[in-house]
Amino acid sequence: MKKIALVGCGFTGTMTAVHLIRNACQPFELILINPRQSFNRGLAYSPYSRKQILNVVASRMSAYDDNPDHFLNWICGLDDFKGVDRNILANSYLPRYLYGDYLRDIWIRTLEISKAKKIVISVQDAQVAAMEVSEDEIVLSLDNQKTETVQYCILATGNQVPRNPDISNDHFYNSPKYFRNPWDVTAVRNADPGYPLLILGNGLTMVDTVSGLIENGFSNKIYTISPHGFTILPHKHHGIDYSSMREEFQDKQCLAEILRIVNKHVRLIRKFGFSAEPVIDAIRPVTQQIWQNLTIHEKRIFMSRLRHFWDAGRHRVPMHIHAGIRHLTETGKLNQYAGKLLNISETENHIMVRFFDVQQQVEKEVVVSRVINCTGPATDLLKAEGHFLKGSLLKGTIIQDDLKLGIMANPDTFEVYNAYNQPYKNLVAIGALLKGVLWESVAVREFVY
Ligand SMILES: Cc1cc2nc3c(=O)[nH]c(=O)nc-3n(C[C@H](O)[C@H](O)[C@H](O)COP(=O)(O)OP(=O)(O)OC[C@H]3O[C@@H](n4cnc5c(N)ncnc54)[C@H](O)[C@@H]3O)c2cc1C
Repeated sequence: MKKIALVGCGFTGTMTAVHLIRNACQPFELILINPRQSFNRGLAYSPYSRKQILNVVASRMSAYDDNPDHFLNWICGLDDFKGVDRNILANSYLPRYLYGDYLRDIWIRTLEISKAKKIVISVQDAQVAAMEVSEDEIVLSLDNQKTETVQYCILATGNQVPRNPDISNDHFYNSPKYFRNPWDVTAVRNADPGYPLLILGNGLTMVDTVSGLIENGFSNKIYTISPHGFTILPHKHHGIDYSSMREEFQDKQCLAEILRIVNKHVRLIRKFGFSAEPVIDAIRPVTQQIWQNLTIHEKRIFMSRLRHFWDAGRHRVPMHIHAGIRHLTETGKLNQYAGKLLNISETENHIMVRFFDVQQQVEKEVVVSRVINCTGPATDLLKAEGHFLKGSLLKGTIIQDDLKLGIMANPDTFEVYNAYNQPYKNLVAIGALLKGVLWESVAVREFVY
């Protein structure tokens, strides 16, 4: 019987397993490797707070491309939502833990199908620590000292923790007052009430972290620093279909031409009172094609000059969350700086952070009790301490994309490339690892089955 290993079982890994089982015509053995606490749920859907919500409305979060109402129907069937109007639920931003429950439920139902098809499933509560790839087999060494030898392997390891920003005193990053992983509950618990606190980054994770701190009783000031300040936009017009503009996108258009089309449509719909939101949403189904058609030079220009605008338009928050952040800012509880971090030093009781305030064009210093890194997932695997794919990169078994956003793979088959740019027939990658190849492969609706 063929043996397949799935490394990482969050949203992407779980749904890949579900499709493998649903489409199977003959028995096989499937080994799922993922730490127990995030099995099925992954990082996004095992949040530390039940208040953390999805950034997409329920009607758009189906796990199945061929059944767009699947999540909404599941939600409507829950006792907690009995008597709530379906349209209200469809347009609501529901808690992320519920989406984790949904994925768990899909998995449990799929196990029944696997039994009927005589597919042998085993789950390893572990992390892969090393990988050896040859033409016939893949050997995975796990951190629980076990080894799995399989014929095929699917990599779905999702996002990494943020990288440490460059500062001269990088010893600080060993301090217990520094929280590199913003998704771990320890980042928001037991903060010293006597001092303010600093969050690096001004994106969606900053928003979650601020609400997590407040939920845990923190009432002192919160500072945030990022190169552009707080630029997250609220969802204003979700559900508007502006797909007609997509007809203007053709194969092999250069970045300048794409920008011309986007700017033209943003200007046009602004006259009718809309923000850029419908334009960004209309581009999303073709983002992967656009990205693949760009030259490396154009991709670099995008990353250095345009990425910020894309991120601001693409990663929005619900209106009420946006209003909450604004309120905290207006009442002086939250101070959001556009700035460049210069250095961080630590004394026995507190931390001094020096940065350049871009708006006022002066150096400033703030005194805080802890620093939480919310700068977004790191992508350069060669700098990822302890990641098993770093070892594979160093050995030359796999290679990075030019922009170091993930690993190189065939954009159609997802087969991972070896050092000679040749695809392995037995190793595929999916999800965030393909960011450099596809750009948009990081969220539920962009997932390609
Ligand atoms: C905080 C947060 C909130 C988000 N909210 C949304 C949202 O509302 N809507 C949306 O569409 N997208 C959201 N996203 C994007 C989200 O990343 C995707 O929707 C989706 O969860 C990605 O799934 P994934 O399987 O690729 O990664 P994950 O779900 O993170 O799964 C990866 C899994 O791999 C495991 N893993 C990693 N390394 C190893 C290893 N060496 N060995 C074994 N297992 C390993 C991890 O433990 C994890 O369980 C959010 C992302 C984050 C970080």
